[in-house]
Amino acid sequence: MSAVSAVIHGAERSPAVRSTGVRSTGPRSKGARSTGEVALLARVPDQLYINGQWVNGTGELIPVTDPATGLILKQIQNASVDDGARALDAAVAATDSWAATPARVRAEILRRAFDLLQERRDDFATLMTLEMGKPIAEANSEVTYGGEFLRWFSEEAVRISGRYGATPEGTGTMVVTQRPVGPCFLITPWNFPLAMATRKIAPALAAGCTVVVKPAELTPLTTLLFVQLLADAGVPAGVVNVITTTRSQAVSAPIIADPRLRKLSFTGSTAVGRALIAQAAQNVLRTSMELGGNAPFIVFADADLGQAVNGAMLAKFRNTGQACTAANRFIVHASIAEEFGRRLTERVDALVIGPGIDPAVDFGPLVNDAAVDNIDTLVQDALSRGATLLTGGTRREGPGSFFAPTVLVNVSADSRIVREEIFGPIVGIRTFETDEEAIEMANGTEYGLIGYVFTTDIARGHRMIDSIETGMMGLNTGLVSNAAAPFGGVKQSGLGREGGLEGIHEYLSTKYTLIPAI
Ligand code: NAD
Repeated sequence: MSAVSAVIHGAERSPAVRSTGVRSTGPRSKGARSTGEVALLARVPDQLYINGQWVNGTGELIPVTDPATGLILKQIQNASVDDGARALDAAVAATDSWAATPARVRAEILRRAFDLLQERRDDFATLMTLEMGKPIAEANSEVTYGGEFLRWFSEEAVRISGRYGATPEGTGTMVVTQRPVGPCFLITPWNFPLAMATRKIAPALAAGCTVVVKPAELTPLTTLLFVQLLADAGVPAGVVNVITTTRSQAVSAPIIADPRLRKLSFTGSTAVGRALIAQAAQNVLRTSMELGGNAPFIVFADADLGQAVNGAMLAKFRNTGQACTAANRFIVHASIAEEFGRRLTERVDALVIGPGIDPAVDFGPLVNDAAVDNIDTLVQDALSRGATLLTGGTRREGPGSFFAPTVLVNVSADSRIVREEIFGPIVGIRTFETDEEAIEMANGTEYGLIGYVFTTDIARGHRMIDSIETGMMGLNTGLVSNAAAPFGGVKQSGLGREGGLEGIHEYLSTKYTLIPAI
């Protein structure tokens, strides 16, 4: 068992690691790279990928930094508006031939990509840890999760089906078929650099669509390495194109406004999603929106507290709290709140903090210093409104963007950590007395991505599943993501679903034909 899963799942750990607390980072914190890491970074492409070719952009470079050290890992090409247009031209040119490629062939290419990802797993895990900061064990889990979308949608590609039947009046035959929507624009966030890309690219390709992908400027290296893998797996030129840019708005807007584009799929913040929906409305463009969350994490008096604390460690501290599914509001029954806070604090204090590339580390840096500033401000806001600090609350001086995992109790309802998506390692505990009060607190947000409920009462569990307004629920668990399940939210957490049987339909349009009886 890895260090991270040992801590997060609460298993025994070696004494040497248990007593560490903050890991002394040695040469790592000074940016010393192993020979393997240097060779890996040299293998990562640094250009744009358009029409099957690696090409230069404007000539300006985007520095990509390691959040554990603040040092530059690699510089990559910055795309211009014209580069974006060229990428869309390539996707449009490849549309007909890819749509006409038999589903079995598309499926086998995706399956080959899955196999290659298993062979190259260490490269992808290491690269994600270097550019995003997550502990290496979590990066490995992301390779598994991200890879599953390739395998799942390779299996779904050959199951795209339609319907055939007589009209009720007997006047003819109705034929319903599914067609690929056409060229898609896929915009991904920085927090899960591989999985957010595969969760969009795999269903699009399975459905027969071509794509332009724009990864986040903070963590673009994983997507660049991944598109090389897709080419190696046999994806034809023009089917997948990648543009990296610091000018997201300027480069994306003309692509979204282009009448040849048929679909926009975005994962990111609700604020940006809202703006993109408005842009997409001009051409009545189909959109899928995976946006922010503000997940309630409800612990009832009858909960198994050990299970609830394990769930909280996973739901809050995985990815350093930088997940849309992260538990954001801890709503705990008043009779057990003190005990829950004490046990959670003990577990948090045992986390080993340091550069994620060190396998003994459980908890890495935040993505950059701006994220640390934001978390600091949120903690200060909660404290100024009467919260009590149980542990953490401080940034770490020195290299890297570190902030201590933090537990607060007596959090007031008007604190920013209650109203906003935190996107970092702060637990804020509030209490409730009745089930109705818990439901009201849980639903008191414009977000609706996921909710977590801990109870041993089956009837209460079912009532909560029915009453909490979210697209997903975890019942006595802190982790629900699965490529075979529909991922997505309600309210301002988004539109559409990724993964599961639903995921491929985001990239298909339904066509109905009537054949009159003769
Ligand atoms: P973000 O909204 O700042 O950026 C997301 C992507 O959009 C990036 O590629 C960015 O470059 C691009 N972008 C930003 N402004 C743009 C514009 N005007 N036009 C076109 N593209 C633009 O989000 P982020 O900080 O990268 O990611 C964190 C957010 O993503 C959080 O809110 C989190 O909840 C959300 N998220 C949601 C899910 C989900 O499945 N619901 C998954 C992961 C992350």
